[in-house]
Amino acid sequence: MAEGYDTELKLFIDGEWIGAEGRDTHKVVNPATGETLGELPLATPADLDRALDAAQRGFKIWRATSADQKAAVLYGAAQLLRERTDKIARIATLEEGKTLPEARGELMMAINLFEFYAAEAKRIYGRVLVRPSGTLSRVMKEPVGPVAAFCPWNFPIGNPGRKLGAAIGAGCSIIIKPPEEAPGSAIEVLKSLLDAGLPKEVASMVFGVPDMVSRHLIASPVTRKVSFTGSVPVGKHLAKLAAESMMRTTMELGGHGPVLVFDDADVERTLDMIVPHKFRNAGQVCVSPTRFYVQEGIYDRFVKSFTERTEKLTMGDGLVAGINMGPMANPRRPDAIEAFVQDAVKVGARVATGGERGGGSSDGGFFFRPTVLADVPLEARIMNEEPFGPVALMRPFKTFDEAIEQANRLPYGLAAYCFTENGRRALLLGDAIESGMVGINTVGIGGADSPFGGVKDSGHGSEDGPEGLEACLVTKAIHQA
Ligand code: NAD
Repeated sequence: MAEGYDTELKLFIDGEWIGAEGRDTHKVVNPATGETLGELPLATPADLDRALDAAQRGFKIWRATSADQKAAVLYGAAQLLRERTDKIARIATLEEGKTLPEARGELMMAINLFEFYAAEAKRIYGRVLVRPSGTLSRVMKEPVGPVAAFCPWNFPIGNPGRKLGAAIGAGCSIIIKPPEEAPGSAIEVLKSLLDAGLPKEVASMVFGVPDMVSRHLIASPVTRKVSFTGSVPVGKHLAKLAAESMMRTTMELGGHGPVLVFDDADVERTLDMIVPHKFRNAGQVCVSPTRFYVQEGIYDRFVKSFTERTEKLTMGDGLVAGINMGPMANPRRPDAIEAFVQDAVKVGARVATGGERGGGSSDGGFFFRPTVLADVPLEARIMNEEPFGPVALMRPFKTFDEAIEQANRLPYGLAAYCFTENGRRALLLGDAIESGMVGINTVGIGGADSPFGGVKDSGHGSEDGPEGLEACLVTKAIHQA
């Protein structure tokens, strides 16, 4: 086992940590080196049935637990995550590839969410309606029931934290399937909750063949809600399965973040923010800034400075101090990005920097150089499909209306960014962009107290903030004469 990969790869079902014991396994690989980190057991249908049974019992226990006790578990888990930061961040870097400082930052996301939901669990209010005397009409919020949650590999700590925190804060039980490619981080997040006193029936963690697991859990009458983060096609597929039983869904899907930079923007300040934000986690972030529309007066200067800054980024194993960008998370990603870049160049894009694999410290790693493509034609595939990689796409624009038209051109609507020093224009931009989140002169578009989610093909429902808890609740009106 690689040094620092200090976790046991097991399923957790109904209080039992379960190893392979004859089950199929999945090889977990370090994307910086290609070395095997461990073998992960994959759940069988019988395992999933056991998890469903536990979730049914766990829901009864947890919905009857006081808000104070729920809060105590979440606060306790947040404290344990703080104490275990070095260990868990290292596991995340080893299995996902992001740099150690990024992994530490991601852990803060889970800590902040647990603390936010701990407090929010005490604020699940209903209301009393005005009725003739003798009648009591109450509008109540109740936990929706057992949740099935599916997480992707790009935020292996924060995403399970987000889904566990909301369900547990709301009083639901949960069966969570973190990514098979980066399982150890999620296992450690769950351990923090269990060590803080979460009853064993309330949360089970399974790994498996994703399609088999999601079909099995969604087909069960025990499951009352699906929460998925991942690609648009898989989200649509799961939403159709969930529709069979009118199951509640939260779908946090892909994006294709437009960035509108106007002539009057503070260019250096914009670049200080947006370049690191672009290459965070090697661009494998659903809210990554991707399509840069830059007003024609500053276009050449912007592309040049962006490129110069990109060329200064250091690449390598995320465990090494001073590295700005690690490898991509799995071998599929460099393959996909290479194909996107080749297609863009074929239709007329100019490679300002990067555009090829490599740049890492090890031959076995899945590295792709940070890339800037300029003058990218709209028909290039990468201008239309989510690239999910370290590529910034640049195009000039002339007018405000043209910029808005371009920003809203695609079926995605997750995150958008605008840079301008004109206050009135900033207000108009905020209203005109079809996106779940808009950053104006900032890349800070999240936070434990702020809703996170998209519109259009990017999904529906919000995570985080009071909205994230609300998404795990149902409303009931009780009229009593
Ligand atoms: P993918 O679509 O096969 O998988 C994306 C995620 O969904 C993975 O974690 C996978 O385990 C899970 N998944 C796939 N099929 C599933 C199913 N039937 N039931 C339940 N879960 C299922 O693609 P990939 O190669 O892993 O990632 C590539 C694409 O996924 C990216 O291009 C990006 O668009 C998208 N993605 C989005 C996010 C996000 O944060 N929104 C995160 C990771 C990946």
